[in-house]
Amino acid sequence: MDEAPMMEPFRAKVVEPIPFTTRAQREQALRRAHHNLFNLRADEVTIDLLTDSGTGALSAAQMAAAMLGDESYAGARSFHRFRDVVGNLTSYPHVLPVHQGRAAERILFSALLRPGLITLGNTHFDTTRANVELVGGRALDLPCPEAADLDSPHPFKGDIDLEALHRALTGPDAPRVAAVVMTLTSNGMGGQPVSMANLTETARLCRAHGVPLFLDAARFAENAWLVTRNEPGYRNRSPREVAEEAFRLADGCTASMKKDGLVNTGGFLGLRDPDLAQRCELLLVATEGFPTYGGLAGRDLDMLAQGLLEVTDPDYLRARAGATAYLAQLARAAGVAVVEPPGVHAVYLDAGRLLPHIPPHRFPGHALTCALYLEGGVRGVECGSLYLGKEDAHGNPVVSAPWELVRLAIPRRVYSQSHLEHVGRTLARIARHADRLPGYRITAQAPLLRHFRSELAPVPLHEDEHRSTAVTTTPSPEPHPPVAVPPRGALAAHL
Ligand SMILES: *Cc1c(COP(=O)(O)O)cnc(C)c1O
Repeated sequence: MDEAPMMEPFRAKVVEPIPFTTRAQREQALRRAHHNLFNLRADEVTIDLLTDSGTGALSAAQMAAAMLGDESYAGARSFHRFRDVVGNLTSYPHVLPVHQGRAAERILFSALLRPGLITLGNTHFDTTRANVELVGGRALDLPCPEAADLDSPHPFKGDIDLEALHRALTGPDAPRVAAVVMTLTSNGMGGQPVSMANLTETARLCRAHGVPLFLDAARFAENAWLVTRNEPGYRNRSPREVAEEAFRLADGCTASMKKDGLVNTGGFLGLRDPDLAQRCELLLVATEGFPTYGGLAGRDLDMLAQGLLEVTDPDYLRARAGATAYLAQLARAAGVAVVEPPGVHAVYLDAGRLLPHIPPHRFPGHALTCALYLEGGVRGVECGSLYLGKEDAHGNPVVSAPWELVRLAIPRRVYSQSHLEHVGRTLARIARHADRLPGYRITAQAPLLRHFRSELAPVPLHEDEHRSTAVTTTPSPEPHPPVAVPPRGALAAHL
């Protein structure tokens, strides 16, 4: 049904009410939440675009599969069904279930790395980087140059820089490179896909230099869909065929199945190397569970197996990609620039461009997320200087993010066209009065991962001597030039 790109290949059988709130209720809720949307109760949110992780809807077939779940501690039928489905998709002989993606990362990197070793990647997702660093390793990002240009329509901005990869695999640090990790799609770079040409050449380089290649496969089906749309030579292939080919190019994968597994929780580690698999299995037993359940219930494994069969359906992927492209179009029409080209799992709004009167240390992205909530009950997540920046004791910027963005992630099979149009109308209302939006200051912050738990307060425009227009005339007590952090994983926020 090419003429109806957004038409979903399913209808609703079970529904969940969403709240319609008044402006006064939202103002009160936001004050109570100390202007941090993570502190809201979910039932105060009308359209929740915080994340696409674990927030999707199950199919009738998945619900039926759940009833067949075998909750035996060891050797459950559910595990064998799950392992067969994952084995057929990936070709990996060793499949270890885990409760979510980061558990697979922790186990793999604990078994593979030791202090001083290096992983190279297109852009490590932030939990991946954290798990490399936790065991003393170093995660180096080698994104292709196009990734740094938010306006570039290049279709494969998730590609790794092959020349930089070649240099790293032949340079002085080469003996310390323990693995290459390719993230499909690159969540840290805005959900941009990796081309099969790039992945094939990466695999060839890895083989030539004896370095294992792992996929971070959370969105393997969405990556495959964009390959069938945009990569010459793959236009007549099915997303399933492309996904199988991608897995076959690698030595294993870590996978959060809260995304393209179409389940609320789950993940797996897939491996070819039997020795590595054995080391990982010991860690699995110690920290997740026996190897035939790995922290999941039998019913979870059955729902995941069924989800993996559904997620490569071209009609599902067409509708999902169509919906995301439609939301990006609504944002542009409202006058809000987005990171181009929009991927499949989210639309990233350029708050820095929309709110030039709010400097980075007054958090333009945060100002836009608060406005989205106040204006329309919509919840997104800031990916800017609140997430990545640092200020001194006087609130002056020490480090700013390279871009001030807001991510609107689209849960799978959850929202309809009319819900997206509500988000578009909300954005249009905000954009008309964008110059009146206040910035925010932090009133209490956590020592780590501050965007989750910080408390903030709006800074009325007339009171803010930190406004970009006023900075030159009213120097702040200890002026520091803001230092932009490199554009590494800047577009993800731990979820
Ligand atoms: C979500 C995600 C992870 C971590 O998975 P969890 O299931 O949240 O632990 C790792 N890598 C990527 C690319 C992700 O999107």
